[in-house]
Amino acid sequence: MSQFATYEDLLAAITVDEGREIINPATEEVVGVAPEGSVEELNAAVERAVQAQKSFAKLSDSERCDLLLKAADAIEAAAEPLVELLSREQGKPLNGPNARFEVGACSAWLRATASFESPDYTAVDEDITATVHYRPLGVVGAIGPWNWPMMITIWQIAPALRMGNAVVVKPSEYTPLSVLALIKVFNSVLPEGVLQVVTGDGAVGAALTTHADIDKIMFTGSTATGKKIVESSAANLQRLTLELGGNDAGIVLDDADPAAIAGDLFWGAFINTGQTCAAMKRLYVPESLYDAVCEALVEVAKASPMGVGLEEENVLGPLQNKQQFDIVDKLVNAAKDSGARVLLGGDPDYDAPGYFYPTTLVADIDPDNALVVEEQFGPALPIVKYTDLDWAIEQANKLDVGLGSSVWSSNRERALDVAAQLEAGTTWINSHGAVDPRVPFGGIKSSGYGVEFGTEGLKGLAYPQIING
Ligand code: NDP
Repeated sequence: MSQFATYEDLLAAITVDEGREIINPATEEVVGVAPEGSVEELNAAVERAVQAQKSFAKLSDSERCDLLLKAADAIEAAAEPLVELLSREQGKPLNGPNARFEVGACSAWLRATASFESPDYTAVDEDITATVHYRPLGVVGAIGPWNWPMMITIWQIAPALRMGNAVVVKPSEYTPLSVLALIKVFNSVLPEGVLQVVTGDGAVGAALTTHADIDKIMFTGSTATGKKIVESSAANLQRLTLELGGNDAGIVLDDADPAAIAGDLFWGAFINTGQTCAAMKRLYVPESLYDAVCEALVEVAKASPMGVGLEEENVLGPLQNKQQFDIVDKLVNAAKDSGARVLLGGDPDYDAPGYFYPTTLVADIDPDNALVVEEQFGPALPIVKYTDLDWAIEQANKLDVGLGSSVWSSNRERALDVAAQLEAGTTWINSHGAVDPRVPFGGIKSSGYGVEFGTEGLKGLAYPQIING
């Protein structure tokens, strides 16, 4: 039984009387008032973290794994209140790959992170005995976005804690309540000071990235902010893991079965209403299958209801904020102005409450149109026709981003051959965007550097100390 048995209990534990009003993006009603943190509060939190980390690092690896498992239990016990808050604040529906899925992923990721083999190892033969011990870095700063606020926070903090670091989290100013609630629940099992959250705007984030006692930054967000963090890391050589999104391409091969792949193609692009770093953001389809794929996608889209998150039937929600709505609207208008054919959507009701942008599929679009070459981060998918597979591969690779990509085919050998030619951190075959806590995940080019998840991810939150002899 959780101490937060109801949504109201949970909300009361994290909201304040004066601070930042958080708006439900589906209704534009106030969800609650979040504290507005300051740089002074951040500095005090880092000081507490430095102290707390010393004894936390002395716990054994299995003791820390135990704490992660207990945190997973606590999150499961408070799951429905967390889900409701996430849905109200982020906008995402309860069902489909949305709020229940995200809270479930938080506990699943914690359990998986506790189960990985320690990365320590010994190299030994007649000439050498060298043991590699992965030691904690110290205090980790975790800066997250508004699209998957709980899950991405867990992705950042679970490996950091497992490796013996303390963590100070700075959530997005759009979704602070979800993160405050998650950490409130998490902290019911942790020693004090090991895991803290400081809310506030980008200035608080910037102060975290320039703080002399922060040894590592885990950042997920835009490339522009990522570049600023790289600059500020020069001062004390802070280590960085940067997950900066991308503009993932999917390539359908001419042997694919449109009806069989349509559902996975759709969710590869529209998961979390398109607001996902590794969602498919442009689709290349051969002329021979073009009409069939377009029609199949329209059918799936029509059967996927969009609406207020708390209504159980919906599987697509609003954009999380007005800024993102305006980006999507501008890009779809650029496509319409160029003469591209709108198969579905593209006609938001500007007077209705909430930041809803209808599910939009755009065909016969120029490969250099802004909707194709810029990240839309919303429910609008451009479908580009191709006749030459090499040209499609070139198109997929031509942008300065490389988080994910996908190949869709009935012939695994052909799909693997195309996959080997794509420049991206992950290339999926007949799916897009599915991540697994055991499998490393990260980008290349302007999508960032460093990997999360699995043993590789653990190594990113530690330094190797070699005992030689
Ligand atoms: P940002 O990169 O601005 O924000 C991400 C996080 O960084 C937030 O917590 C933000 O805080 C914080 N931040 C802002 N400025 C600084 C700074 N100078 N130093 C340290 N931290 C800082 O992304 P946005 O939310 O503005 O979204 C913009 C675009 O980013 C989207 O349109 C989308 O394309 C992309 N994006 C990518 C995501 C991904 O998963 N990779 C997720 C979300 C967005 P605060 O919110 O308080 O400003």
